[in-house]
Amino acid sequence: MIITPKIRGFICVTAHPDGCAAHVQEWINYVKSKGPITGGPKRVLVVGSSMGYGLASRITAAFGSGAATMGVFFERPSEEGRPATPGWYNSIAFTQAARAAGLYARNFMGDAFSTEIKQQVLAAIKADLGQIDLVVYSLASPRRPHPQTGVIHKSVLKPIGAPYTNKTVDTDKGIVSEVTIEPATETEISDTITVMGGQDWELWIQALADAHLLAPGAQSVAYTYIGPEVTWDIYKNGSIGMAKLDLERAARQIDARLKANGNGRALISVNKALVTQSSSAIPVVPLYIAILYKLMKARGTHEGCIEQIQRLFATQLYHGGQPQCDEAGRVRVDDWEMIPEIQDAVCAIWPAVTTENLEAMTDIAGYRSEFLKLFGFGLAGVNYDADSEPHVPMN
Ligand code: NAD
Repeated sequence: MIITPKIRGFICVTAHPDGCAAHVQEWINYVKSKGPITGGPKRVLVVGSSMGYGLASRITAAFGSGAATMGVFFERPSEEGRPATPGWYNSIAFTQAARAAGLYARNFMGDAFSTEIKQQVLAAIKADLGQIDLVVYSLASPRRPHPQTGVIHKSVLKPIGAPYTNKTVDTDKGIVSEVTIEPATETEISDTITVMGGQDWELWIQALADAHLLAPGAQSVAYTYIGPEVTWDIYKNGSIGMAKLDLERAARQIDARLKANGNGRALISVNKALVTQSSSAIPVVPLYIAILYKLMKARGTHEGCIEQIQRLFATQLYHGGQPQCDEAGRVRVDDWEMIPEIQDAVCAIWPAVTTENLEAMTDIAGYRSEFLKLFGFGLAGVNYDADSEPHVPMN
């Protein structure tokens, strides 16, 4: 069938298998172009490995340091006549490329929050790899069935304490408008912490440690975002920000555990705001990203997920010394985003953006093309007019 983008709000309900494969190949090529990461990890588990920062982590580990990788993800498989979600195709393309390069790659499709998937992964590590050197925790999920109670907790993207009003953009229609978001209830805040906080990361590490599957000196990293003041009410100080504080709490617990295991460590990396499936769902943030892209591209400092994670591995996690951390002990690869020149310019542009001048004042065009690329559309070398088979089995 001919597969075309079908955008519904902040999601595209179709994905192109060949386009996704071309996207993965672009990322692999980038990592290879940067050369080997000396001393990088050799056996890596990525939880949330099919899209965004998790996929970039898996590609960097495999093609930057020759790692065997296990990836855990939750995607809708393809069917006869119906495309999968893009992470399905990404994982297939990654696995093919990794195996062609002689690298071990194994996939686990299912709910990473469940005890069942954890047990499957533990058994596979025991059988195939022995132990793990690095655990990347990169889940972004709207819900979590609790493994003990079965209760389904849902995360929300809301402010705390008072309603929040700011500009936002409908990225598809190009309309800038004002949005007001009512504050989260106490239950919504605690549910968001249950979904996006650090408890599940701790459960993964505990399960791996109890089964003696963490190599001496093993590391673990999870990702967070801080961003500019203009988004703090909805992000850093909102319900998701509370979950991220809990992720930092978990990092300290896990760090202590890993330190005792041959001087390993756990880290939080603060990453840059980027177009991913998750960030496109947050009100206000896409407008900020469209402005940010314009400024960072003009300055020559724009990076995508793969550039961010390759830099994280090569200059912080595996550069042969201690990572450089901020006062809260976090690694900052959002450093180029947060420099005062960029943030001052964002503040100057923000009040002036309207529907009429959106194209001129922001990189909304770049935002849209990045968004489509997430679903495998707009990649060079892919013939989108040709018939494409949407049903591709997992390898
Ligand atoms: P994403 O939506 O691109 O990818 C999320 C991944 O999680 C996918 O692989 C998906 O399959 C997997 N996943 C979701 N629910 C799952 C489940 N129940 N079981 C197994 N896998 C599941 O997300 P992203 O933007 O790359 O975010 C990853 C992390 O990076 C998050 O912690 C996010 O807060 C953080 N981060 C994102 C940004 C950004 O701008 N996108 C910036 C800084 C930090």
